[in-house]
Formats: sequence, C-alpha cells, structure tokens
Amino acid sequence: MATKKVLLASPRGYCAGVDRAVDVVEKALALYGAPVYVRKEIVHNKFVVEQLSAKGARFVTELDEVPTGARVVFSAHGVSPLVREEAERRGLKTVDATCPLVTKVHREALRFAKADYDIVLVGHEGHEEVEGTQGEAPDHIQVVGDPESVNQVQVRDREKVVWLSQTTLSLDETRETVERLRKRFPELSDPPSEDICFATQNRQGAVKKIAERAQVVVVVGSANSSNSVRLKEVAEVGGAQRAYRIDKASEMDAAWFDGVKTVGLTSGASVPEVLVKEVLAQLAQWGFEDVEEVETERETVTFALPLPLRKELKEAGMIKTDNRRRTNDPGHTC
Ligand code: SF4
Repeated sequence: MATKKVLLASPRGYCAGVDRAVDVVEKALALYGAPVYVRKEIVHNKFVVEQLSAKGARFVTELDEVPTGARVVFSAHGVSPLVREEAERRGLKTVDATCPLVTKVHREALRFAKADYDIVLVGHEGHEEVEGTQGEAPDHIQVVGDPESVNQVQVRDREKVVWLSQTTLSLDETRETVERLRKRFPELSDPPSEDICFATQNRQGAVKKIAERAQVVVVVGSANSSNSVRLKEVAEVGGAQRAYRIDKASEMDAAWFDGVKTVGLTSGASVPEVLVKEVLAQLAQWGFEDVEEVETERETVTFALPLPLRKELKEAGMIKTDNRRRTNDPGHTC
C-alpha cells in the first residue's frame, strides 16, 4: 500500500521584507518601549499581529487614532505621500518598515509620472500596497484588477503608456493582463524590471511544482494576504484537485484528505514557520508522516533594518552590527 506523503514546498513562509518588517516592530518596542503604534497590519497575518500586540504594538487603521507626538511604524506594504504628510503635520515620530521592493515600485511610479506617462498599475483596488503606490501619482495612475478590465483603460497619448504592478500578484494573471494591454497599446513600455518580487515568484514556482504531484494542496496564510491567496490559485491551476487556504492547523478538516495519498503544503510570505509545523503535526496524526521537502530555489536575500532605526539601536548598544546584507537598494530584485 502506498504511504501517505506530504510534499513541503521550499521556499515558503517569511520573505525578506516580512522578516524585516516584523523585526522593525520588535526592535522599536525594545528601543522605545510600549506602546508603539503600527498603521495597518504590519504584515497580513493574524498570528503575527496577535503576537506583536501581546508585546505592546497597537495596530491602528489610520493615523488619527495615534496620539499626537507618538511613535508609529508604517507597514511593509508602504504608504502614500499623503500619509507621510499627515504624520509630519501631527508631529508623529515615524519608523518606515516599507519593503524595499515596494519602495522600488513607488520610485518607478514617480519617475514615469514625471515623464508624463499614463501608468497602468496592475493590482487589486483597495489593497494597501496599491493605495500607497497610486498615492505617489494619483493623476497618472489607473489600477487594473484583472485582464477583463483592460478595456476600460483610458490614456491621453498611446505612445506614453507604461505598466507597473503590485509585488504579490500571480505571474500568469499579470502576464495575461499585460498581453491584453499591449494589444490595445502596442507602444506599451515595460518597467525596468518585473515588479512581481522574487519571494512571490519563488513561492509560486515551488507551489506549482508540488501541485503537479499532490492531490490536495494546503496553503497556510490569512485571507487578506494577497500572496497567500495567489498561492492557492496557482496550486489549483497547477494540477491539484483541490486547494485550501487556512490560517492555522485547527481549521483543517480530516474529510479533506479522505482517499488522498499526497498532500502539498506551503505558506505565504507573511507566515511564520511555527504555523507550518503545527499543520505538519496535524497531518502526521492523520497518517501523513512521510515528509518530502521539494526545493525549487534557495533564498539568501535579507534586507537591512531602516537606517535611522539601525543608528539608534547602535547608539543604544542594542545591536553591534546588523549582519544582514544592505540590500535596501530598491533596484535589487534578485
Ligand atoms: S512579498 Fe516581496 S514585496 Fe512583499 S514584503 Fe515580501 S519581499 Fe517585499
């Protein structure tokens, strides 16, 4: 009888930008003491937000919930210039945990807006990252959520159109949207480098690989985590009969695995490994004890802490050296 097996995707879980953002909040708490306010969820994961809340982080939706003069961290998804201006007006002390790869997209948006391009931002309307990027040049940017919406795009000069994208989309869907855009606007310019970040691409590549062999794929990640939701979609398209997204092991139902021999398992870029371990433990109880790690890429990228925070930590003797690579260069995309 064939044994029941788990194919564990690698890479999975925390990306460099999330690792840095969570570290920023933890270091800010250690340096300044609680409470430290955080605008929006630092990363889109319930467990992480709960853990940081327990340590003294206060998550707010907007800056008007932060007392004047208090300290506030901007999340990994980035903020628009209006948010920065408001923080300054209110005398808030800010710590910016925006992922350097998101900052890179902001800079591209600014550069193309300055050159008076119409910018088509492929992304999900209402997502914090998209709001932040759009805020850099609201008069130049239109958001396109899916290939079907391309028909609604209006431009002033068909020869001055460029596309940019949210960092956590599905590669295939973005490709289709861009192809349709190019059909409408043959002179469409491309961003200097693809905006879908390396971590998103790597996790999608890995889940594709396991979906070819697994009947059921489980994705650990929160419902508001764009990259986790995309992983589930990629698994479904990639060959799995069914895919489920869960926040934690207790959300799984034993019936999902009736008659199943091979389960694929991965986690979104904002998911700590402890949650994956709990899923593995639960699957083992249901007979899936054999675990094969399927590695499609090895990630070595890390992002240094934001410079002002790093300086203060050093002055306070709380870090000697930050060994992580100084890859805050937003041009770096692996
Ligand atoms: S998924 Fe990519 S863009 Fe988003 S935080 Fe991680 S590294 Fe940065």
